Amino acid sequence: MVTTMVEKIFQNYLSAPRRSYFKDKKMFREEKCLFCSTSEKLKKESPPLILDLGFTKVFVIANFKNCFLVVNPYPYVPRGQLQLVTHRHIQGMKELNDGEMDEIFKELITKIQTSLEKEYPMVVGFNIGINYGKTAGQSVEHFHIHLVPRFSSETGFMETTAGTRIVDENPEETMERMSKYFK
Ligand SMILES: [Zn+2]
Repeated sequence: MVTTMVEKIFQNYLSAPRRSYFKDKKMFREEKCLFCSTSEKLKKESPPLILDLGFTKVFVIANFKNCFLVVNPYPYVPRGQLQLVTHRHIQGMKELNDGEMDEIFKELITKIQTSLEKEYPMVVGFNIGINYGKTAGQSVEHFHIHLVPRFSSETGFMETTAGTRIVDENPEETMERMSKYFK
């Protein structure tokens, strides 16, 4: 059978090591939710801050009334991939209350997108996504929105030939760069 380029890409996605990495890191088995732990921490401290939970670190950029903004430490893109997380432990969009809806969708998403465009002039597009349920890729069952800036040059030799993703900025640097827009 002839394997087309598209089939090859999908095979790579299906066998992506990212999911096993999460499992190895006990993301699914932790008793205390990592985003609830972060929300707790934000009652006493102000961002930018790094919360070290042992099995993972959370890099908090900003804190708001109903939610907070963190760096995704396991990104799909080379830099600047963020997550907007509710303080309340809810799983899906249906459970959002009016305050959360307004803050997230009327205020913050556009503000975050504008800030990313300012900080990373090479941004040419965005993915804004919500995964609901494990089958849909929700690795932490606490509501969060993925904000993924896209760069025209992000797919290079390593991604297409070796199934390896290149990340050229560490999460701490992203946290520092982005936190100034939310002071
Ligand atoms: Zn939680």
